[in-house]
Order: sequence, then C-alpha cells, then structure tokens
Amino acid sequence: MEIINLFPGSFASNCYVLISQKHAAIVDPSANADKILSVIEQKGAIPDMILLTHGHFDHIMSLDDLRDKSGVPAYIHRDDAELPEDAQKNAFHYFFHTERTYRRPERELQDGDTIPLGEEIIRVIHTPGHTRGSVCYQCGNLLLTGDTLFDGGYGRYDLYGGNGEVLFQTLHGMKRLGQTLTIYPGHGASANLSDALHALHI
Ligand SMILES: [Zn+2]
Ligand SMILES: [Zn+2]
Repeated sequence: MEIINLFPGSFASNCYVLISQKHAAIVDPSANADKILSVIEQKGAIPDMILLTHGHFDHIMSLDDLRDKSGVPAYIHRDDAELPEDAQKNAFHYFFHTERTYRRPERELQDGDTIPLGEEIIRVIHTPGHTRGSVCYQCGNLLLTGDTLFDGGYGRYDLYGGNGEVLFQTLHGMKRLGQTLTIYPGHGASANLSDALHALHI
C-alpha cells in the first residue's frame, strides 16, 4: 500500500491518497479535486472510492467536485452521514457564519466493515468522540485517524456530536490496536501510535 499526503488541503487538513495495485482511495478530500485526480493519474491508477474519517467541512471541501469529476462513491460512518449536508452539523456555519453543504455520501459504514482496495483490505474502526461517527481506517500498519488522534493531541469535542468522555474511552481503546501502527492524522504529522498515546498519558 502506498500512501501520499496532498497537504495542504483546505484549512491545513491532510488529504491522503492510498494506492494498491493501481486502485486508489482518497481519504478526506480537502485538497483540490483536479490536483487529487492528477496525482492518481500520474501513478497510473484509477480512483475507486472516497473514504471520510468524519463529516466536518475541513475534510470534505472537494467532496462534491471530486464525485462529479470521477464518479466514485463516498463512504462515511452512518452516525456522521447527515453531517456534510448540514452547515450547522458540518461546522462550516460555526466558523464562517454562512452555509456550505455537500451531498450526502453514497455508502454508510459501521465498525468492523472491511473494504477491499486493490490487493489489500481496509478495516473500519469506529472511534466516536470528536463526532459520533468518526472512524479510523486501518490498512496493514497504517492507521488514518482523522481528528480523533494527532501527533501530540486529540480532536476537540465541543462541536456537534462531540463528547469528551466518549473520546477518552475511544483513545484508551486504541491502545489495543498494537504497538507497530503508524498514525496518519487529519492534521499534522504522522507518528507511531503507541508514542502518540503515551504522549497523552494514555
Ligand atoms: Zn473534525
Ligand atoms: Zn479537522
């Protein structure tokens, strides 16, 4: 599995492209759609799907444009499925006092779902707290953590659907995922999972 980070997406978000056997998944389409598609094309790959770690606007800025240009479906946990189409819930209104919405994702995920990409399997891990439907995507040693866990921090829990108690339960539960995973967060640098948790005294 190859992972490419198209940082900076909008609002300093990371935008990842996963490629296996010429099949690509875009995780959190915050970068420009043409830029994402040209990187995939340069690799000789074709886009298969868009995977969302959660429904906040800063991770989905090119979601509609990318779907229009590529025709691929978007996946989101079912508990966040209503966020993109609601400017209050996707937090755009909170920051900019104006509306920005996106079409509802085509596919809804739940914990434990597996998604094939090329020769590999992406596993969906429900990690609520930052939002109700936040997920991490695990593939081999990669763990895409969205706004649940950063290198040196964790996501805020005061926006729609956020819950601090639930987030800390989630972070404690992530210890069980193993020592060797590398996190690829929605913002900031990558890190070893256990180092990132340890830094938070978890
Ligand atoms: Zn967020
Ligand atoms: Zn974010």
